[in-house]
Amino acid sequence: MSHELEFYIDGDWVRPSEGTTFDIFNPATEDAFAKVASASRSDVDRAVMAASAAFRSFRNTTIAERIELLEAIAAALKPRLPEIGELIMLEMGAPRWLAVDMQSRMALDHFTSLIDVLRTVSFTTRESGAEIVREPIGVCGIITPWNAPVAQVVGKVLPALAAGNTVVVKPSEMSPLSPLLLAEAMHEAGVPKGVFNLVNGEGAVGAMIAGHPDIPMISFTGSTATGIKVGRLAAETVKRVHQELGGKGANILLADADFGSAVATGVTHCFLNSGQVCVAPTRMLVPEDRLEEVVALARAQAEKMTVGDPGAAGSQLGPLANRMQFEKVQHLIQTGIDEGATLVTGGTGRPAGLNRGYYVKPTVFANVTPDMTIAQQEIFGPVLSIMTYMDVEDAIRIANDTPYGLTSYVSSADAGEARKVASRLEAGNVVVNYSPRHTGVPVGGYKQSGNGRQNGLHGLMEYMEMKAIVGVG
Ligand code: NDP
Repeated sequence: MSHELEFYIDGDWVRPSEGTTFDIFNPATEDAFAKVASASRSDVDRAVMAASAAFRSFRNTTIAERIELLEAIAAALKPRLPEIGELIMLEMGAPRWLAVDMQSRMALDHFTSLIDVLRTVSFTTRESGAEIVREPIGVCGIITPWNAPVAQVVGKVLPALAAGNTVVVKPSEMSPLSPLLLAEAMHEAGVPKGVFNLVNGEGAVGAMIAGHPDIPMISFTGSTATGIKVGRLAAETVKRVHQELGGKGANILLADADFGSAVATGVTHCFLNSGQVCVAPTRMLVPEDRLEEVVALARAQAEKMTVGDPGAAGSQLGPLANRMQFEKVQHLIQTGIDEGATLVTGGTGRPAGLNRGYYVKPTVFANVTPDMTIAQQEIFGPVLSIMTYMDVEDAIRIANDTPYGLTSYVSSADAGEARKVASRLEAGNVVVNYSPRHTGVPVGGYKQSGNGRQNGLHGLMEYMEMKAIVGVG
C-alpha cells in the first residue's frame, strides 16, 4: 500500500489540496495503524470535474468496449484479492476466511454476473410506437459503508460504468484502505482518465458529493438516518438517489420446517460478519409451542461459535468494525435486558478471555415482543431476537411490523406454503429455506430500507436515463 495519502483523480494518484489526515484503527487491537488523507471541497470539485469531462466520451463507448473494460478490471483485481482480504481484516475485523474468501469472491462475482447481463441487454427497444432508448445518466456519486468495503464499492461502480457513466467514489472513513487497491486495479486495467475517481474522508465529504450540483445521481449504502440526509442534500438539485439502507430481517420458521437445521442456520446467518450485514435474519419468528425447543437449539449454536482474533484460524466471528459500533451494540443489548427480553446467552461485555478489541458476545434473546427496541432497531451486531407467533397470519403481521423491508426469510418443508407467505411479506427479497442468492438477483428495500435495486439487469437500469423518441417509424 502506498496511496493512503493520495486520491485517485483523472487517471492519476494526486496529493490532496490540504494536508488533513485521519487515523485508521484495527478493531482487534483498538490501535491506529495507518493514516489516510481527507478530501476538501476543492478535491471533490476536482474529482467531479474530471468525471464530467470523461463522461463526454465514455458515454459513447459500445457495450462490447465496456465488457472488455470490465474484464480488464477483473483481471487486474484478481491478483490483488489476497491483499485486499488482509486489509479488510485489519481495517474492519472480518476473519480471514470471510475477508479473503467470501468478501473477495463476492466482489469478483459482481463482474461475472454483470458481464452476463451486458452480453444480452439491449439499450434500445420499442414501446407504444416509440423508440425507447436507455442512456447513461452522467457522473454518479457513490458513497459506501465499511461492512464489506470492496464488494460494496464494486457493486455500485460496475453497473455505473457498464451503463456508460463516470464515478466519484467515497468509501467509509472506517475502511478506506482496501478500496485504494481497487483504484490501483482500475489504473492497471487502463480505465480511461476521469472515468473512475476516488476520494477519502469522513461523512462531510460524502455530504459534499451528495449535494454537488454537477452530479445527477447518488448511489448510497448505509444507515437509514444517513440515507435520509443524503436524500435531502440531493433533493436540492433533483438528483436520482439510489439508497440501500438498514434492515431488520424476519426469519419465519413455519411449523413444518426442519427446526434442527433451520434454527442453527438462522443463528449462523444472523451472526455472519459479526452481525454487520443489512440482510441478516435478525428476528427469528417461531410457533409459540416450539419456543423451548428453539431456545435450546439457538443457545447450543450460539455457544458453539468462536469469537477471536480475525487472523487466527478457527475464528468464526471477529470484533465489530469500530468503537462507535461496539458501543451502540452494547447499549442495545443492555436495552434488551432492561425492556424485559429473556437473555438466553451472551450479553454485555466482551467474551471471556478477550480484554481488548471490539469483540461482542454472540447474544440470543427470547420472549422479544414487537414493541421492544431490539425488535425494531437495526443492531448491526451478533444479536438474535427470538419472537413467537400464534399462527401464520400473526407471523406475517409481526414480520411486517417494522419500518424496514429489506430481506426476510421463510423456512418450510412445503415450498408452496413458503411461497404464499413470501408473497405477503413487505421486503425487497424473501429467501426460502436459506437458498443461496446469485449475485445477479436484485437487492433493495421496501419502506425505509431504501429506493431502487442493486445487481443484475434491474441494478444496471438504475444508472440509466430513459428517452422515448416519438415519430421515427
Ligand atoms: P453511515 O450510514 O453513517 O455511513 C455510510 C456512509 O455514508 C459512509 O461512507 C459515511 O462516511 C457516509 N456518510 C456519513 N454521513 C454522511 C452525510 N451526512 N452525507 C453523506 N455521506 C455520509 O453508517 P455508520 O458507519 O455510521 O453505521 C451506523 C449504522 O448504519 C450501523 O449501526 C448500521 O445499523 C447501519 N449500516 C448499514 C449498512 C448497510 O449495509 N445497509 C452498512 C453500514 C452501516 P463515514 O464512514 O466517513 O462517516
